[in-house]
Amino acid sequence: MNQILVIEDEKEIAALIEKALKEAGYQACLAHTGEEGLALLKEKEIALVVLDVMLPGIDGISVLEKIRAAYNNVPIIMASAKVQEEDKIRGLRAGADDYIGKPFSLEELIARVESQLRRFTYFNKGMPKEQVLEAKGLTLDEKHHRVELYGKEVKLTPTEYDILWFLLKHKGEVFSSDDIYKKLWAEKYYEGNNTVMSHMWRLREKIEVNPKKPEIIETVWGVGYTIGES
Ligand code: CA
Repeated sequence: MNQILVIEDEKEIAALIEKALKEAGYQACLAHTGEEGLALLKEKEIALVVLDVMLPGIDGISVLEKIRAAYNNVPIIMASAKVQEEDKIRGLRAGADDYIGKPFSLEELIARVESQLRRFTYFNKGMPKEQVLEAKGLTLDEKHHRVELYGKEVKLTPTEYDILWFLLKHKGEVFSSDDIYKKLWAEKYYEGNNTVMSHMWRLREKIEVNPKKPEIIETVWGVGYTIGES
């Protein structure tokens, strides 16, 4: 079974998270610095990363950027005492899949871990994968989890992939941020709007010629987002 990597410098907190993960039936490994964490990611099969923002040496956001720069699309949950909205958006923009503010309950963390793993597994393995979705120069190959824009591969995080997959799957329909959040996260921890907007921003940066005037994922003002039929 693949492991969950916890990168957290406060040893007591790291031990508590490890214990909770094990009680929930997961295997966990700990790193107390970003450097250690990055080394473990290379060594082991890691299914998900819980990543603290404030770390000695390289900070959590830089660790996150390094993981994504290496084209590793492992789900990442950022944990931080800095629950300011701007920090959260910074984390999500840098490629985190979810963000949890410290102090958090271990129950909430486990719920978020489950949610991320479920989405990741669902979109990666649980569905018939022979399908290729296409629109506006985009090709999304469900089997290989691969996205191309006019034949050129676009690297997306799992969350960006899910959002794009969802909109392509329902081409022609319009969904609000809340709709997208509910469909993809389907969780009780409700903080939808900004989360979806941050991911949407990054996704557009990657696939739109001009993200401020998006032509693939259109904004229907006051309603939501859509990939049109034509
Ligand atoms: Ca810390």
